Order: sequence, then structure tokens, then C-alpha cells
Amino acid sequence: MIRVAVAGASGRMGEAACTAVEGAQDMQLVGRADPLLGVELEEAIADAEVLVDFTTPDAALPNALACLRAGVHAVIGTTGFDPEPLRQAVLAAGPGAPNVLIAPNFAIGALLMMRFAAEASRYMPRAEIVELHHEDKLDAPSGTAARTAQLMAQAGGEPPAIHSVRLPGLVAHQEVILGALGQTLTIRHDSINRESFMPGVLLAVRGVSTLAQSPTFGLESLLF
Ligand code: NAP
Repeated sequence: MIRVAVAGASGRMGEAACTAVEGAQDMQLVGRADPLLGVELEEAIADAEVLVDFTTPDAALPNALACLRAGVHAVIGTTGFDPEPLRQAVLAAGPGAPNVLIAPNFAIGALLMMRFAAEASRYMPRAEIVELHHEDKLDAPSGTAARTAQLMAQAGGEPPAIHSVRLPGLVAHQEVILGALGQTLTIRHDSINRESFMPGVLLAVRGVSTLAQSPTFGLESLLF
């Protein structure tokens, strides 16, 4: 059994993650941290092997640093924070430190969208990204859009402009539109509910202790 704690346990993603962990036969939910519950992170991870973090851009870094101190592997789903200080802290902690996985999107379809977009930008270098999310999302552009743009630029495309839409009725959606002479190619992914992310979250919990490199960015190394 993998002992798992969830930070942001009363939030939209955190609640779904708690339910997914409780439903997994090889996992045990041993802690829930959230201001609403009055449970601090250190208390929630006291008996955990892995933390899943779905909090806020301000909370994700201190939570991850607390995991490093406590010897707990961290799966960070929170977006909109600068990962560089965390990277430095992991390097400073040296061998034997717990692993950190930072994944801006756990949905398999979104990971495929990013992969296909990077491949397409080798042949169609001009592109723009439209990302659409629910109105309560704190960060813009989304972590997924920023990561997609990075992968497309690394593949040889021009860095794509990103347009952010925030409206009620949306969950998490993204279109990558590539344009060339007389033609366009659109690659679109829709998460229509938060369950779409949960198989990827469970995969990350199972795989984080085996990562060859830490921190690892993206779920790709466990999936492809
Ligand atoms: P949310 O509903 O606002 O939930 C965040 C929760 O974290 C809130 O209950 C918040 O409490 C709590 N929190 C704040 N500081 C905390 C701390 N220090 N320790 C523990 N809990 C704390 O947000 P959400 O929609 O679930 O999204 C959470 C994050 O996941 C966002 O960054 C979002 O972009 C990201 N996300 C990632 C994926 C992915 O696939 N990687 C998918 C969807 C969303 P208060 O309300 O009291 O502050």
C-alpha cells in the first residue's frame, strides 16, 4: 500500500484526488491538508510516502519544500508558480532526497495534444494557442498552455502566442491552431470533468518514487 496525503483536499481537484486515492486498491489516504479543514501540511504528511498537491501558486512551493524536509515524494499538480527555487532546493538536497514530479496536466488526452502539437510545429512553425478554463482559475496562461508552447518552441516552431479565456461553464480546454499557406490544422483537447485527470494522478503516485531524475517536469516520462 502506498500511503498518500493530499494538499488542497477541500478544493475541486483535491477532493477528486482524495476520492481517486480512496478508490485505488494499492493506496491508502493517510492525510488531508487544507485551511478549510484546519489541517497543516506537516501534520497531513506525517505518515505519508507521497503528497499530491492541488493548492494555489503561493502554497505549492512551501508545501514541496516541507516534503523535501520530511522525506516525502511530491506530486505537484498546482500550476502558476515558478519551479526554479524548487529545482534548486532538490539539487541542494542531493542524492537520497525524495523525488518531485511537477505535472501541469494529468489528462492523457492533453499530454497527447502537447505531443502532437510539438510534432506538427516541426512542419508548420506558425501557431497560436487558445486555452479556455473555468472562471475561478487563478493563473493565466494555464500551465498546460505554457508547457505546450515550450515544447513547440523546442521542436523548432516559433514561440506561439497564448490567448486565455475564463468563463463559467468551462472546465479545462485547449486548442492549438497551426497555420500555413492556404491551410490550418487545429488540435483540440477538452477535459469535461475533473475525473479526466485522476488516472494520471494515480500513475504519478505509483511512479514518483522510481523517477530517474528529480525534479521531473510533466507526466510524459511515466507515460510514453
Ligand atoms: P481550488 O478549488 O481553489 O482548491 C485549492 C485548495 O487548496 C483550496 O481549498 C485552498 O484553500 C487550498 N489551499 C490553499 N493553501 C493551502 C495550503 N497551504 N495547504 C493546503 N491547502 C491549501 O483549486 P482547484 O481548481 O482544485 O485547482 C488547484 C490547482 O490545480 C490549480 O493550480 C490548478 O491550476 C491546478 N490544476 C491542475 C491540473 C493538472 O492536471 N495538473 C488540473 C486541474 C487543475 P482556500 O480556498 O482556503 O485557500
